[in-house]
Amino acid sequence: MTKAQGQCLCNAISFTAEYEEEKFSACHCDMCRRWGSGAYLAMAANLKEIKGEEYIKTYKSSEWAERAFCNNCGTNLYYKVTAEGQHQGATFISMGLLQENASLVLEKEIFIDEKPNGYSFAGDHARQTGKEVMAEFSGEEQS
Ligand SMILES: [Zn+2]
Ligand SMILES: [Zn+2]
Repeated sequence: MTKAQGQCLCNAISFTAEYEEEKFSACHCDMCRRWGSGAYLAMAANLKEIKGEEYIKTYKSSEWAERAFCNNCGTNLYYKVTAEGQHQGATFISMGLLQENASLVLEKEIFIDEKPNGYSFAGDHARQTGKEVMAEFSGEEQS
């Protein structure tokens, strides 16, 4: 378990992030890009010791997840699975919130088929289409 400090742009919200793996993913889906302009760089982590929790605003962006942001400065905080099942409560925080993120490795890109042509990430990592992501997700749900 690794611990790291993080905060939003205005510092109204700060927290300790706890995570198992020093990995992040990049999501190119239409919703993530609308939310934050570019790919959403996120890592599985739990938020602990949250200060300024009253500034956290959540938005139910789909039937299965919500997105949280600071209602003072608008910083995107996390994407959380709300649907029942084994992934319920899984939280993917914006890696940009962390004070230290130099050691984090890009594990995979998802919804690669929705990525605009104008940018791409270098490196030899997994790249999954939206269809592949959804198939994996629903496959795990059944087991
Ligand atoms: Zn803020
Ligand atoms: Zn996305």
